[in-house]
Amino acid sequence: MPINPTAGAPQYPGGCLQPVLLRDRVDHIDGATGELLHRYTTVHEPGGVLPIACKTRRASQCAPCAEVYRADTYQVISAGLSGGKGIPATVAEHPSVFTTLTAPSFGPVHLHREKDGRLLRCRPRRHSRTCPHGRRMSCGVKHTRNDTRLGEPLCPDCYDYSGAVLFNALAPELWRRFTISLRRALARQAGLTNKALAAQVRVSYAKVAEYQRRGVVHFHAIIRLDGRAGPTTAPPVWATLALLTVAIDQAARSVNFQTAAAPSVPARTLAWGRELDTRPITSTGELTDTRVAAYVAKYATKAAECTGTLDRRLTPGDKLADLPIRDHARRLIAECLRLGKLPGLEDLRLTAWAHMLGFRGHFSTKSRAYSITLGSLRADRSQHQREQAITAGLLPDLDPDSTLVIARWQFAGRGHEPAIPPGSPDPPPPAQRGSPHREEVDDVA
Ligand SMILES: [Zn+2]
Ligand SMILES: [Zn+2]
Ligand SMILES: [Zn+2]
Repeated sequence: MPINPTAGAPQYPGGCLQPVLLRDRVDHIDGATGELLHRYTTVHEPGGVLPIACKTRRASQCAPCAEVYRADTYQVISAGLSGGKGIPATVAEHPSVFTTLTAPSFGPVHLHREKDGRLLRCRPRRHSRTCPHGRRMSCGVKHTRNDTRLGEPLCPDCYDYSGAVLFNALAPELWRRFTISLRRALARQAGLTNKALAAQVRVSYAKVAEYQRRGVVHFHAIIRLDGRAGPTTAPPVWATLALLTVAIDQAARSVNFQTAAAPSVPARTLAWGRELDTRPITSTGELTDTRVAAYVAKYATKAAECTGTLDRRLTPGDKLADLPIRDHARRLIAECLRLGKLPGLEDLRLTAWAHMLGFRGHFSTKSRAYSITLGSLRADRSQHQREQAITAGLLPDLDPDSTLVIARWQFAGRGHEPAIPPGSPDPPPPAQRGSPHREEVDDVA
């Protein structure tokens, strides 16, 4: 990785497939005297521009940058499970589970089923009923893992596309309500008031969204009980794994959300699916801390690609019928576009998020006290590179407390195309590129 001799700019990791090109300079000025101590300019760079990594988290957009994101996420998740990076190793002794909250059914779809390594039939029914569209509600096929029919409805005309899209749109709100219910359920289990619980226990979590083949999101979450001050403090003795597991079950089964009514779309109650899986995370055995961290980090670099949808926002020029996407995804997108126009549902912004099948949440989130942050990992790396640059004589060793760093950057192009010449009118801003999602958020309830 080349050393970037600028203090104000992120480094350019070799291999970014779609770097942002910047032009201009960074000045280091003595805060007391105004003297110019050092100037970096892109004039001496190849082509006169400095390429900056796109830093997307999404493997489908830029694999090298997504790999950096995956490795960082692994460290963040792993520190919260087994310690490290300033988190004490005793955190591994805190009750900690891996929970999957699924979506309910919106109609039967083709399934991959396996038992003891043997493929099973999709939906065998001896006396299957026939739907109003004349389709049999059974399937005797043994679908392999990469069968393209997986996740497709047995009858697209019966399938509840409204429900699927509304669930995606409201899944983040359902999760928020779940975290509140969980604290209440813990308090109830412990025989405490909510306030008394908060004085003794902190609930920390890290979660990741995953699309199922049928085009609905579900969440995988690490949920951990700490003492009041977070991972550095032990939880009280009564805060056991069993108590946490029961409370998660209660909270997940009780939480729901009433959608707004719209013309031809009655209000409905959305809740998690019945399939709920909560398992303890341990240092040995089936569900180890390293396996969980690897799993979460892998999903943090994905979006909705497995559903066969579009990997970008729709534009006014797009003809839905002509897009190279799966028919099931096309119907989900069409439903987003239809519902997005209805009064009462505007707040869900289904039109803007149609390519994500309605989901506009963050793909990975964690509570503030879960672990270190991705930002702190990046700051450490940037500091390390600056020290290397100083050691190599590329950057003067200036006192950060008295030196002003004034960066003047101009957007000069994108990717490996020729740079836009200086002075071109109205260059698009370099921000808001790559993933439409913010990469990380600390959302604490
Ligand atoms: Zn990149
Ligand atoms: Zn099938
Ligand atoms: Zn039907």
